[in-house]
Amino acid sequence: MRKLSRRSLMASAALAAALGIDKRLAFIAPAHAQKTPGPAKGFHRYKVGSIEVTSLYDGIWEKPHDAAFIKNATVEDTKAALAKARLPDDFVSIPLTVVVVKLGDRFVMVDSGSGGQWQPTAGKLSANLQAAGIDPAKIGTILISHFHPDHIFGLMEKGTNAPVYPNAELVVSATEYKWWTEPGRVEKLPEARKPLGQRINTVFPGWKNFRLIEGEQEVAPGVRLVNAPGHTPGHSAFHVSSGGQQLMISNDTAYVPALLAPHPEWQGAYDQDGPLAVETRRKLLDRVIAEKMLICGAHFPFPGAGTFVKDGSGYAFTPAQA
Ligand SMILES: [Zn+2]
Repeated sequence: MRKLSRRSLMASAALAAALGIDKRLAFIAPAHAQKTPGPAKGFHRYKVGSIEVTSLYDGIWEKPHDAAFIKNATVEDTKAALAKARLPDDFVSIPLTVVVVKLGDRFVMVDSGSGGQWQPTAGKLSANLQAAGIDPAKIGTILISHFHPDHIFGLMEKGTNAPVYPNAELVVSATEYKWWTEPGRVEKLPEARKPLGQRINTVFPGWKNFRLIEGEQEVAPGVRLVNAPGHTPGHSAFHVSSGGQQLMISNDTAYVPALLAPHPEWQGAYDQDGPLAVETRRKLLDRVIAEKMLICGAHFPFPGAGTFVKDGSGYAFTPAQA
């Protein structure tokens, strides 16, 4: 069982007393006690020109610290950066937000969330789609940034792998799709990635609704795919423009801004090609700053959007408020 802090033990005892339960029973904590409160409202709407964007909260991974998380920083460095961003420093906050862009009467979703198959503290996307009044059956296009679990497991039903969006067109960079599905790939993956590779190769080649994109091009009206490799070989961002306003949907390029805004040179364990991920991150953030764009990211604090400015050799991030 997970170790409980003294504070949470006292809180559970107080709750037990309030509910009239024997407090010894209250110490049987839920298997995955979450410390971070979820947002009061699980969706947030804003406009980019005439395009309506909805951020949808899927959940959070309160990742325990481990020395391998950032290749070129210590756990102490990581904790200091979190504290500076006024985040808890006893774990790394990795929230997960999915974006839906409304183009006329067409709904385009970016990635699919975790489908409740990533961390036990995530999987709220479908409830929040419903709260936001978005019918999943009306999502005609899903733009996929990359094939990591928190971005694609929401495409597949737990247990059966049945398609959750059988009628949506699934748009992904050809590089990403081909890299994960090329013959012999699963054997070449590190041990921890093999189950992911196997699932991708069992399921995706049988689906007929993938559209593979070569290079940077328009993937929906006003939305362009932007190559952002490094995190994975075909990792993509999506650029939205309307009426002179621009939004860069950066997905995992800047990952957790509390860490990577001040330290864009840090290479995360999940960045497959660390030096390339750093190069891509700087290039994308420099472009966002030069063109005064709003930027959102899958792991930015909810509602998942904000702005960057240059700050010394790194950047400073200002999150948008829900
Ligand atoms: Zn991610």
